[in-house]
Amino acid sequence: MKNQPQTVAFKAGERNIFFHILTACNLRCHHCYINFEQHGTNTLSIAEIEKWLRILRGDGPANVIFLGGEPTLHPDLPTAIRTARKLDYAVTVDSNGYMLNNFLRNVRPDEVDFLSFSLDGPNALVNDAIRGQGSFNICTANLQKAVALGFNVSVIYTVSRANIAHLAGMIPLLKNSGVKRFFIQVIGLRGKSALAAKNDGRLGDSLGDSLDGSLQVSRDEWLAVVPKTAAMAAKAGIHVTYPKVFLEAEEDFACAGLVAENFFVFPNGRVYRCPLCEDYPINSYRMTDNALVRETGLREEAFFALNIAEGCVMNKLLQPDTIEYDAGGKPLRRISCCLLKQEIRLDLPTPNAA
Ligand code: SF4
Ligand code: SF4
Repeated sequence: MKNQPQTVAFKAGERNIFFHILTACNLRCHHCYINFEQHGTNTLSIAEIEKWLRILRGDGPANVIFLGGEPTLHPDLPTAIRTARKLDYAVTVDSNGYMLNNFLRNVRPDEVDFLSFSLDGPNALVNDAIRGQGSFNICTANLQKAVALGFNVSVIYTVSRANIAHLAGMIPLLKNSGVKRFFIQVIGLRGKSALAAKNDGRLGDSLGDSLDGSLQVSRDEWLAVVPKTAAMAAKAGIHVTYPKVFLEAEEDFACAGLVAENFFVFPNGRVYRCPLCEDYPINSYRMTDNALVRETGLREEAFFALNIAEGCVMNKLLQPDTIEYDAGGKPLRRISCCLLKQEIRLDLPTPNAA
């Protein structure tokens, strides 16, 4: 139905390459999911990036999302983007907004389909407590520059207990800046996020006792805020996407690892099919100089095929606290694949249309 959240089905035959070309970053966000031990510390050369783009291309439609670390730290990112375009990838760059190496001067707006900026608060007070001092002003200034230059700009907001109360405050900021798409994400238990709240005084101080050692939001907190705020943003003309998280009784469960073609590629050569597996040496594939090679032994794919009442197997293994059970031990609801999204787009003009 028009104007209602739609679940975005996994598209068989369409490839998504989440390409971490390096793990280095100029920021130290509290919820950073980069794990140097598992993902390495190296930076791929442009020759390796181009070769891997060719190897991973496949035959059907394909999207590449350049990630890091901070991908604009890579001096050859503009060349990588041009090569990806030549290979007929749709190209997105996910950046922390610092736009290093004069990115906005070295790449033309028509060379990328979307330029995504990460912001975790509608003002410096909220955003900088999570992403670091000064990051809000730099990110928003570059975002506005990018819109003025003609880039399609989107914003990614990672919801945690540190910023869920400020999500709605993003709407005027996005609307006034000419942002076309808004991706709301939920904080996971990967990388630093599991430990951030416990070990760092900054967030704890700002949130007081309510933080309770965890940045994860409960089902009730999520449902009370996210769908409503997404609908408000859509009403303001912004195309909004957010994770499904909880499946209703009548909804089917599907594991993207089995039905979609997602490849999460790291500079140490590990290639995963599921982002929840990225902290463990259970990657399905690895890149060699000349090919994508299937790994042997116990791999993430062994978990995808398990059919459990709780829905996502990796969620059950890694975040069992997110599942509620009735008195008979039956899960009250299933957890969807973390890659399953809902989106809302209204037939209103986007902020910078007309
Ligand atoms: S979350 Fe992104 S921007 Fe923040 S430290 Fe990690 S890689 Fe850098
Ligand atoms: S998040 Fe769960 S359902 Fe999705 S790919 Fe991973 S294991 Fe499969």
